[in-house]
This record gives sequence, C-alpha cells and structure tokens, in this order.
Amino acid sequence: GGIGNRVELSDLPLREDLRGRTPYGAPQLDVPVRLNTNENPYPPTPELVADVVTAVAEIAGELHRYPDRDAVALRSDLAAYLADATGVPLTERNLWAANGSNEILQQILQAFGGPGRTALGFEPSYSMHPIIAAGTRTEWSPTPRREDFSLDTTRAAEIVASLKPDVVFVTSPNNPTGQSVPPSDLRELIEAAPGVVVVDEAYAEFSPHSSAVELIEEFPAKLIVSRTMSKAFAFAGGRLGYLAAAPAVVDALLLVRLPYHLSALTQAAARAALRHSVETLGSVAKLAAERDRVVEALAGLGFRVVHSDANFVLFGWFADAHATWRSYLERGVLIRDVGIAGHLRVTIGTPEENDTFLAASKEVGR
Ligand code: PMP
Repeated sequence: GGIGNRVELSDLPLREDLRGRTPYGAPQLDVPVRLNTNENPYPPTPELVADVVTAVAEIAGELHRYPDRDAVALRSDLAAYLADATGVPLTERNLWAANGSNEILQQILQAFGGPGRTALGFEPSYSMHPIIAAGTRTEWSPTPRREDFSLDTTRAAEIVASLKPDVVFVTSPNNPTGQSVPPSDLRELIEAAPGVVVVDEAYAEFSPHSSAVELIEEFPAKLIVSRTMSKAFAFAGGRLGYLAAAPAVVDALLLVRLPYHLSALTQAAARAALRHSVETLGSVAKLAAERDRVVEALAGLGFRVVHSDANFVLFGWFADAHATWRSYLERGVLIRDVGIAGHLRVTIGTPEENDTFLAASKEVGR
C-alpha cells in the first residue's frame, strides 16, 4: 500500500556524487541488551527529569516565538562546564552549539570544506566524517592509522604537510578503536596543517588525557574542538553537540547555520541537564571501571582487545566478524560490526548488561 511507490531511489534526479552511497545505519533493534551506539546506559535521574519538565513547561507558553537564534544562555552554561573541566577560561564567545555534534561537524565542513576542498581523516575512525564530507561535497582523503590503530602523529604531520587538506579530523578518543591523542602529540600535526584541525572529542570525559581545548589559545585560526552531550552526559536523545574555538570560528559558522536551528525545547532541556552535570558525570568513573573489567575479562577469554580510553571496546580476532555479530544477536546482545576485518565493538553498559555480554562472549568463540 501507500502512495508514490512506483518510484525508486535510482529513478530520482539525485546528485551524481550521491548515487550508490549508503546512509549511516547503526541497526536500531529491539533486543534486551543494546551495546551498539556508545550511549550512557544510565537513564536520567528523577531530579533531572523533573527539572527538564519544569524548564520545558516554562517555555511552552512562548512557543509561538522563535528561539534565541544564538543560544547565548546555553552557550554560557556550556562554557562554564568546559572551562571547569579543562581549566581553560572559555566564555560563551568560544562556544557554539547544534543538534548533536554531527550537525556541528556538518557546519564546520559547510564553512571550511565544500566543493574544491579536501578533508582528511585517519581511518578507521568515525564513519560519519566521510559521510558528512560527501553531503557537503568535500573530497574525502582517508589516511591509515598504524596496524594497532594508534595514530603516528609524526607520520600524520608529514602526510598533512604534503597533501595540504583544508580540514583535518582527529578523533580522540578514537571511535571505534578507543585510543586518545594527547594535546602534546597534536601540536606538530596542527603546525603542519594549512587549514583547520577538528579534534572530535565526543568521548573526552571517559579519557584520562587532557583536552585539546588547551591548545586553542596557541592555534586560534586552526583548532576546533568538537564535543557532545550524547555520551558521558547521557543526553543522546536530547541532541546537543557543541564546539570550542576562537570567537572568529563561531562567526564563520553563523554564515552557514540555519536560523533557529536549535529549538527552544532543546535549549531549555539541555540547560536543565547541564545543571545536573555533577550527578550525571558520576557515571563516568563507574563506566571506566566497568570498561577495565570488561577488557580484562575479554583478554582472559583469549580475545585481542584494543586499548580504550572511551566507553566502548574494539576486540577480536574473529574469523568471520559478521557471523559472530549475529551469534551475539541470537543471544539477545546487540553489539556493532564497524566493518573492521576480524573485529567487533561493544559499548560498556551496566554491570548486568556487561555480564550478559561476557557470558555470550564465552559462547560465541572466535
Ligand atoms: N563524533 C564521534 C566520534 C561519535 O562517535 C559520535 C556519535 N556516535 C558523534 C561525533 C556524534 O554524536 P552526536 O551527534 O550524538 O553528538
């Protein structure tokens, strides 16, 4: 049934460069244990929920008006959080916010990438970087990491110096592999870059390393640090990503952002969630300890486990990773096949979820 089914995607006058591409597609399946999208397994506290409801109720009477286009109050709150977390005296002029850090990254490529320009990333890394590059018609230049998935920053700086990409992505901790690049190792890479360097710190709160935010004052025309409330802040459904950079970078993004892109509901809910950051971020230490327990248990079972500073772990070696992914699913455990030969990625959940995952791991074998 339905209307319009005579037409298929291949019949549409789609841009040639988008033909044959596949959309981002982490499966959203209804299974008992979902450890596949790096969310925080702990739901918001009742106090946070009540505060969000009150905040949304307060602005509901003003929904006939557009929201604050520049989200100044929210950006002030984010600046206060990030200044406290990093020790860098950021203000709201250093912060910009959008609907998830995916939108932040898209706005960055709209402003600094685009037709005739190139973005470079160190793979394997976050699969959305090349997808957002494609959507903005930025040429994607993939550069391999070491065999062990760590980043050789000296080699990376040489490659950046020779290829001269307009945008460089460094994911730290890297998704899906887990390793961080500390600020001291980033310096030579940023020095070598002719354009902007985006450090995607979606998982920064889980890492013992300090943030690249420390380097903004040194490289104000080059460095952009992207963050999100989707992971440590347990706010994936709220859709709130942000960046820290020089105020001039924010001025550049104002040229490409859609007016009123952040709804009044999102702004109010995010501000309420930020008021509870101390209790929410209490889960970070718990999850890091669980991560270390899972890593040790997997190693004890004979798996190869990649070092992780994040809330997920890449492990293997599987003769047929996709078949093993299905074996986990048959046991009610949804993890992620990220397309790396022989490997799968598991998000750290509650202790009970991790126990279920580890019990399944004993059974699926390699
Ligand atoms: N960057 C990285 C490295 C990620 O893993 C993710 C989420 N999977 C994002 C950005 C985007 O997350 P969000 O849009 O929810 O902020």
